Amino acid sequence: MSLDFLGELRRTHRCGELRSENAGEQVVLMGWVNRRRDLGNVIFIDVRDRTGLTQIVFDKSDNPALHEKASQLRSEYVVAAIGKVRKREEKTINRNLPTGEIEVVATDLKLLNESKVPPFLPGDPALANEETRLKYRYIDLRREPMQYNIELRHKVALAIRQYLAAQGFFEIETPFMTRSTPEGARDYLVPSRVYPGEFYALPQSPQLFKQILMISGFDKYFQIVRCFRDEDLRADRQPEFTQIDLEMTFPQPDRVFEVVEGFLQAAFKVAGFELKAPFPRMTYDEAIRQYGIDKPDLRLPKLTDVRAAFTAEQLQSLQLNTELPVVAIRIPRIGELSRKERDDNRPLFGERKDARLIDDVKRLEKSFPEAVAKARELAGAQPEDLLVLVGGPVQVEKSGLRPDYGVFMAAGQFRVELSRKYADRHMAFRQGGFHFVWVTDFPMFEWDEADKRWNAAHHPFTSPHDRDMDKLESDPGSVRALAYDVVLNGTELGSGSIRIHRQDVQKKIFSALGMSEDEAKARFGFFLEALEYGTPPHGGIALGLDRIVMILAGAESLREVIPFPKTAKAVDLMVDAPTPVSEAQLRELGIKIR
Ligand code: ASP
Repeated sequence: MSLDFLGELRRTHRCGELRSENAGEQVVLMGWVNRRRDLGNVIFIDVRDRTGLTQIVFDKSDNPALHEKASQLRSEYVVAAIGKVRKREEKTINRNLPTGEIEVVATDLKLLNESKVPPFLPGDPALANEETRLKYRYIDLRREPMQYNIELRHKVALAIRQYLAAQGFFEIETPFMTRSTPEGARDYLVPSRVYPGEFYALPQSPQLFKQILMISGFDKYFQIVRCFRDEDLRADRQPEFTQIDLEMTFPQPDRVFEVVEGFLQAAFKVAGFELKAPFPRMTYDEAIRQYGIDKPDLRLPKLTDVRAAFTAEQLQSLQLNTELPVVAIRIPRIGELSRKERDDNRPLFGERKDARLIDDVKRLEKSFPEAVAKARELAGAQPEDLLVLVGGPVQVEKSGLRPDYGVFMAAGQFRVELSRKYADRHMAFRQGGFHFVWVTDFPMFEWDEADKRWNAAHHPFTSPHDRDMDKLESDPGSVRALAYDVVLNGTELGSGSIRIHRQDVQKKIFSALGMSEDEAKARFGFFLEALEYGTPPHGGIALGLDRIVMILAGAESLREVIPFPKTAKAVDLMVDAPTPVSEAQLRELGIKIR
């Protein structure tokens, strides 16, 4: 066999798949030169493809011409080699390599392509800086960890598809060029050439389309789908990201939970993790009271209200509100903090009007030994645990937020900060483990202090609880929604809700949100109309695929699991986007840059 006519090669081997059983076989390997080691009379080339690498040997005494050819090879050249598999001698076996028991003795070699000296080598364990990696993403993606992540992503998505398909869900596409959809972010707009001055919007999610699919009789829909949101990019967000989006008719929230738990089990299994279902559940109210946050991290102890440990006089002398909770934050194994550490931590609590921090519990103990002992007991604190207290200010300012929630949330946020800062000491994040929880019964509305109005906490198509319907106008803040989030280790993985399926209710919600009938018609007229044609009760959810894969890959950033991501400044460094466009293009679209 010779390599003169590559087109005639029907069967090649994969570089990572040869084992000692293949000894004696004639094989053809194609791939990249991962590394060349030149020992003078013998040259070793590691040839790499997606599956791994195999060592190929060129011996001068066997074949001087071939040895000479091999000496011209450089990193990342693309080659085809023929040779015979042979077992390595015991002392040269490489136990770190799946193919380490064999090598291939070359009988022919063809250089398929050369490579410029790459800015970094895929096989180099030292990581290039991220800008270089993103600019030369095609080289970065050749690296083994990236090949692993992208393969994992494929397998996770496939497992989810298979699970949902087996449950009777159809994957149905919805348009990317559509009109503004409400998920609370800015839209990416696409100008229309045919109608100058008019725009499509890229979907922030398929929300209205999936609801319309329910009206269309499609029972169970899902889609692994790109969503586009033009937000100021906080750490680890992407302007385009992928959701596992689903919707079904006639579900109770329980049914949605069951489906999500099922596909998460399938997805985690692919990465080698068994998940126990059902996941625990708590209401939003419980989450706030126990964790001070709507995405509780269950790996560390809950908050405890220890107000009962103090007398009213004691609280007054501490300038704490006697009517509001006194919340103990306990973090195990951190130990007592020094004065300096406490001072450094203060900015993490922040300047707050809704809560006061008491971080020197030692000192408090001097004044009120019994009260502090009681508080420790209530919080279950061990001697080596860090304990801090958060209470309410004497004067409570009126705002849309309940004052007790203000105290819990201040404590919850500080708990998160402390737990991040002292992760090396409490070690709770190291032990691994996936602590899922469903948070249910979110409030329907959120008070927007800046604009002095109520906003939809989830989105305006979320159904309020039946029993809270009569409070829509009188007390919007207390209306609960049939909305739920799935949370993993303090991160929100997804959220969804049972939807409004009656047009009269939908109208009421728009009006509670301060939207006039005309405005509602102008924005969602098509949807309000659809609701009038026999809309079944329906509900669903969407989960972030990128984040799930990131967690499963043990990666630090979403960019590690998205093949072609954008930077934190929303730039694609490889293709160099966004860019200005030509005057001619703009003219055609009727657009003038200001
Ligand atoms: N469309 C919602 C979102 O993207 C999810 C849902 O309500 O199903 O957050």
